[in-house]
Amino acid sequence: MGSRKVEVRLDREWLETMEQPLIIAGPCSAESREQVLATAREVARIPGVTMFRAGIWKPRTRPHDFAGVGKEGLGWLREVREETGLKVTLEVANGHHVYEALKYGIDVLWIGARTTVSPFAVQEIADALQGADVTVWVKNPMNPDLQLWIGALERLNNAGITRLGAIHRGFSTYEKTVYRNAPRWEIPIELKRQLPDLPLLCDPSHIAGNRTYLGELSQTAFDLAMNGLMIETHIHPGHALSDAKQQITPDELSKLLKGLRFPTAQQSNGKTHAFLEVLRQQIDFLDHELLEVISRRVALVERIGEYKKEQNMTILQVKRWEQVLEDRLKQANLMGLDENVIKQFYQIIHQYSIAIQSRVMNEQIAS
Ligand code: PEP
Ligand code: MN
Repeated sequence: MGSRKVEVRLDREWLETMEQPLIIAGPCSAESREQVLATAREVARIPGVTMFRAGIWKPRTRPHDFAGVGKEGLGWLREVREETGLKVTLEVANGHHVYEALKYGIDVLWIGARTTVSPFAVQEIADALQGADVTVWVKNPMNPDLQLWIGALERLNNAGITRLGAIHRGFSTYEKTVYRNAPRWEIPIELKRQLPDLPLLCDPSHIAGNRTYLGELSQTAFDLAMNGLMIETHIHPGHALSDAKQQITPDELSKLLKGLRFPTAQQSNGKTHAFLEVLRQQIDFLDHELLEVISRRVALVERIGEYKKEQNMTILQVKRWEQVLEDRLKQANLMGLDENVIKQFYQIIHQYSIAIQSRVMNEQIAS
């Protein structure tokens, strides 16, 4: 299941330019020439900001929402580049968008979350890009499906695009959380594990859905060794025609960036960090012990399964499960461990035990 080795061929020279964090700023949508240029002039003055974003074709949930200015915005972005020296990027969602964006020399194209979910749409974009000398970022799909995300990157790579990157913008969820989209950090971490050379940016604006959380999300992104940020920035966020609640002013962006810690030593390669090595060896030792304990627990669970079978008992014993959970959470609490994390851990352990016992029961039936 998804274990096939992923091979994405990337442009080495371009990868080297990604060692500095890339900061992309600009409005959710280009609304007018004035709004675009005024925002660009201000963000261009912020140290570290080197790229300007603005959507001109906007995928909107409802048909009467502002759907972007379309082709007209391409000229405004070209002006931004000429006047400020910022590189420019926008979202493309079909072959026609690609054709227009390439005609205007847009530096970077990105594929939005609503498009990444559709292999047909991504393939159409890849076909339109065949052989083009352009950088393409792929946002994660709306749903937490890593294979779809990787599949989109592979389709583009097969079309000859070697300056590729991924943007983590969170995942749609039915459960209400403080964020608009659930970060599910484990998914971009797994992407990084499978494709360690692929630049990975974070879009805290679409995760947060609200400017309050931009700082903490941006910091987490850097702590997880992500290569940059895309932050929606507007001269008058309150009047924005799309995503008004999550946009910030250029001034606010400047303050936000100043407040971030940029870990410089992303990897420990090259240098030997003797202190870190000693601690890691201890972690390795403890993890091996932990697995030993789990294995001994599994052996006991199997014996319990056999007994339940003999006694014709149900596998799930709700009272016992309740007692186990209560006891372990009490202990976790006393030890200063996070109750939520330990609860999730025990839910997984318990599910595993149930699966083992059903196997034991079925084996006995079969024999
Ligand atoms: C956007 O960047 O404005 C956008 C529509 O993003 P997403 O595809 O992440 O929803
Ligand atoms: Mn937006």
